[in-house]
Amino acid sequence: MPKKISVEALDRLFHRQYVCMKCNAKIKADLRKVKAGKVKCRKCGYKGLRLKRKDIKSGAK
Ligand SMILES: [Zn+2]
Repeated sequence: MPKKISVEALDRLFHRQYVCMKCNAKIKADLRKVKAGKVKCRKCGYKGLRLKRKDIKSGAK
C-alpha cells in the first residue's frame, strides 16, 4: 500500500471536522448529518457547529 495520502483525501478528512461555536470543542461528523441537525456537541450539546476547514485555508488563496 502506498503511504502517500492524496490531497483529495486530506481535504475530505478536514471537511469532516467541525468546531462547536459555543465551547470550541472539535467534533468529527458527517456533513450530511450536521446539515440535518443530527449532530451536536459532546461537551455542551450545542448544535451550532462550524467547519474547521477555515483554519487550514486561511494561508492559501
Ligand atoms: Zn460545545
